Amino acid sequence: MKKTVQLYEGKAKKVFETDTDSIVIVSYKDDATALDGLKKGTITGKGAINNRMSNFLMQLLEKEGIPTHFVEELSDRETAVKKVSIVPLEVIVRNVAAGHFAQRYGVEEGIVFDEPTIEFSYKNDDLHDPLLNSYHAVALKLADKSEIQHIKSMAFRINDILKEFFKSKNVKLVDFKMEFGRLPDGSIVLADEISPDTCRFWDLETNEKLDKDRFRRDMGGVEGAYEEMYRRVFG
Ligand code: UDP
Repeated sequence: MKKTVQLYEGKAKKVFETDTDSIVIVSYKDDATALDGLKKGTITGKGAINNRMSNFLMQLLEKEGIPTHFVEELSDRETAVKKVSIVPLEVIVRNVAAGHFAQRYGVEEGIVFDEPTIEFSYKNDDLHDPLLNSYHAVALKLADKSEIQHIKSMAFRINDILKEFFKSKNVKLVDFKMEFGRLPDGSIVLADEISPDTCRFWDLETNEKLDKDRFRRDMGGVEGAYEEMYRRVFG
């Protein structure tokens, strides 16, 4: 697989075309942004950690019957993935109150839900990714009704698999964001990444934060948290 032209550069990854039409290469950067792009920085080693962790988790999900974009890990930072057209929704599943959920509804972080929740944001930087419900998503033609239904059931199934996996690594999966993509035949696969950038991970016993919140909230120990998550997943 050979990289050809760069398709685009996002906040945390670059995407390249390849000599194969249906495949693109993602290259993970150490760059980090937060607070709607207001906060910028570097998390040394993050690109390689996110690349390896995301690939490992995508393969775990594939084994459980969840289709993903993953094709092949090419190096520390680079992975070949199926070229998809991204459904412009951020799909967030939560098991525990944190972040915007806690803020929005005025509850303390850490309250454990009886059942996981799901929410959607419209992936649109100009509009600052506004929250929307599935009727809005259909009205805006971001996805049709059956696609939304399918995305919801995949998202909850992914949550079940990941929650159990992380529990075995002494990690609480608090919440996480997913993106889905369409293949040329219209089928939907899990895309983007699953990493400490896109998940909240708390130590199962102490609730110590092991994710990007350490960067968002200037807590220090950012690199250490990513390295600790890497050790727990692969150790
Ligand atoms: N998240 C993400 N990208 C975003 C917004 C959220 O990956 O643009 C992830 C975030 O890491 C967390 C979950 O989605 O695991 C829920 O985030 P929340 O809505 O609480 O917003 P945040 O406080 O992270 O901005």
